[in-house]
Amino acid sequence: MRARGERRSVVVTAGPTREHVDPVRYMTNESSGRMGFAIAAAAARAGHRVALIAGPVELKTPPGVKRVDVVSARDMLEAVRQAFRGADALYMAAAVADWRPARKRAGKWREKDQGAEVASLDLVRNPDILATVARGKGDRLVVGFALETGSGLRRARAKLVKKGADYIVLNDASALNAERTSVTILAKGGDRQRIVNKPKQTVAEALVALMAEA
Ligand code: C5P
Repeated sequence: MRARGERRSVVVTAGPTREHVDPVRYMTNESSGRMGFAIAAAAARAGHRVALIAGPVELKTPPGVKRVDVVSARDMLEAVRQAFRGADALYMAAAVADWRPARKRAGKWREKDQGAEVASLDLVRNPDILATVARGKGDRLVVGFALETGSGLRRARAKLVKKGADYIVLNDASALNAERTSVTILAKGGDRQRIVNKPKQTVAEALVALMAEA
């Protein structure tokens, strides 16, 4: 157990990933990156050393944060592995694409030019970064996120176990691109903390405070 207020080394991921079909087209999602950037900013304000691994987003790097930009889920996995090696905590706020095109075409995808009206794209599963990294975490803090429609509590709890995280932060789709959010923080021990309609900064501070309890 470490003393409260001790400076930790923290890794935060944020934003979507981009999975390329060809050099100019890709699959992605609606994540703005705001939650992860808010956590990185709050952790830096609390005096921690912060590495922020960001997918493609239009956000300014918070003061005192070391930022690493990545594009795809596989890039993010490599960056997280490297950064987490010497770190004390991981906040996996990124909305990692679950799938990627089975191959990235070297040139533009041209099915249309052959007169096709229907085309299909083969997809393969991306690695689960959280589950992969949590396997070797030891007693280090790992916090995951779950965006669920409906109540989602049961699914979030299952995710907590399956991915091997210490906490899962459950939010709903209204959190996407929003300034405020409501979350339920589920602990692996069964505790549950609910934060309702607060600025992401307030939620971020509550999440950073989890380090003092770890
Ligand atoms: O399974 P689901 O995508 O709902 O899980 C969300 C959590 O898992 C988030 O913390 C997200 O960052 C992480 N995740 C991941 N790698 C993936 C998919 C999700 O680390 N391929």
